[in-house]
Amino acid sequence: MPSLSQLRFDNTFARQFPQLHTRLAPTPLREPFLVHANAAVAKLLDIDLDAHSPEELARYFGGHTPLPGSEPLAMTYSGHQFGQYNPQLGDGRGLLLGEVVNERGERWDLHLKGAGRTPYSRFGDGRAVLRSSIREYLCSEAMHGLGIPSTRALCVVGSKESVQRESREAGATLLRVADSHIRFGHFEWLFNNRPELLRPLADYVIDRHYPECRDAAKPVAALLHAVVTRTAKLMADWQKSGFAHGVMNTDNFSITGSTFDYGPFGFLDAYDPGYVCNHSDHTGRYAWNQQPSIGLWNLNALAYALSPLVDQDDIIAALHSYEPTLLEHYYSGMRGKLGLASIQDDDTALIMGLLDLMMKNGGDYTRTFRALSHVQLGDERCPLRDDFVDREGFDAWFESYRQRLLLEGRPDPERQADMLRRNPKYILRNYLAQIAINKADNGDYSEVERLLQLLQSPYEEWPEHEAYAGLPPDWGRKMVISCSS
Ligand code: AMP
Ligand code: MG
Repeated sequence: MPSLSQLRFDNTFARQFPQLHTRLAPTPLREPFLVHANAAVAKLLDIDLDAHSPEELARYFGGHTPLPGSEPLAMTYSGHQFGQYNPQLGDGRGLLLGEVVNERGERWDLHLKGAGRTPYSRFGDGRAVLRSSIREYLCSEAMHGLGIPSTRALCVVGSKESVQRESREAGATLLRVADSHIRFGHFEWLFNNRPELLRPLADYVIDRHYPECRDAAKPVAALLHAVVTRTAKLMADWQKSGFAHGVMNTDNFSITGSTFDYGPFGFLDAYDPGYVCNHSDHTGRYAWNQQPSIGLWNLNALAYALSPLVDQDDIIAALHSYEPTLLEHYYSGMRGKLGLASIQDDDTALIMGLLDLMMKNGGDYTRTFRALSHVQLGDERCPLRDDFVDREGFDAWFESYRQRLLLEGRPDPERQADMLRRNPKYILRNYLAQIAINKADNGDYSEVERLLQLLQSPYEEWPEHEAYAGLPPDWGRKMVISCSS
């Protein structure tokens, strides 16, 4: 296994799009130290973490030692923030270090978040805080563990440097690893500033991420259609898992349909469709139940930016495919969560009936589905009924569910095993992240370690960690998170 100094960089974006970035080196963090490194992501890059001391990792990813072959740069992009077009965003506190090609020929972007000021920093300090770096580190891995496309992270580095947010906080960096750092906002910026580069960037995205579009009669129209498909599936995945992103601005939407740029995200505890996890989202634009329509809103912005290259009819057709794709993916996923192998007319009513009961009775989204995964067909009464104030209502729903399962006649063990693979036991509830952060603030990273391990295998039983699958304590319910990170 190569060491970090032997990573194979091949920086195609740096070479091909000089107009879309500014080259600059990271600003070293003061007295950096390793908070945690992710062995699973190291493997993705063919790196042997044991070949490096924590101090060495901290110097590489605290911005002191340049990685041989990397060519750090800040990307230029714009985007719609809370519905308003912001013409000039760009990487204000992160640098694309380059693209690493691993032994399997996969290409991974390395991006150092919190690397210091850039020409796009505006009034910001170019830094990230330890709190939000740990949150992104854990959540991106949790999403991956759930089977939802996401960026990931190799490590978090802390420092003695403090930065000002609502209070003074510890500065940190996160080494993000992603299939792409091209956002919807890249195309929006080109549309408004350098339209002649729209086609080269679209071609680049096709070659790198959507090779199946290369031979289509209209490759860019095919690309738009494919981005719509992947984004629709991602939104369905978020809704199925109860994930709320919090800042669905178009600069935070990846062109590859991966979950991207973790800020004030949250997972539903009690099923509350109007949950707004972002403290600054006063109008609830990015409320959990708005996510599917915002996904389409963002695709509209992308389609507008690509309109010089795509016929109007093809744009309309691509955007029209969003809703059916999302619904198909969502309902097949929800049927799977309920252990239903076939499709029946009443399935939507059955699914909605359960969600409605959860909403009215404060039922916990994740725990309810996990508990249903243990149901036996012979059960007249479901043990879960005691979690619902409206026990009769739950009994009536359960009876229709039982009848539906009887109709399929799958043996209990088969259905249960299938459901247990689709209904996680462990999710990153905000209060769990907060406990890990509080400990990390005192130099204890054991909770980061434990959570990372649980979240990498969220469908497994970890009998010694039962408490992590429990209901949140009073202080940890429906947490809203500050946008400042
Ligand atoms: P985000 O909310 O992290 O998606 O960031 C939105 C925009 O603000 C991006 O252009 C970021 O690079 C920039 N930004 C966020 N925080 C900072 C910071 N502390 N310093 C400089 N730029 C920042
Ligand atoms: Mg962002």
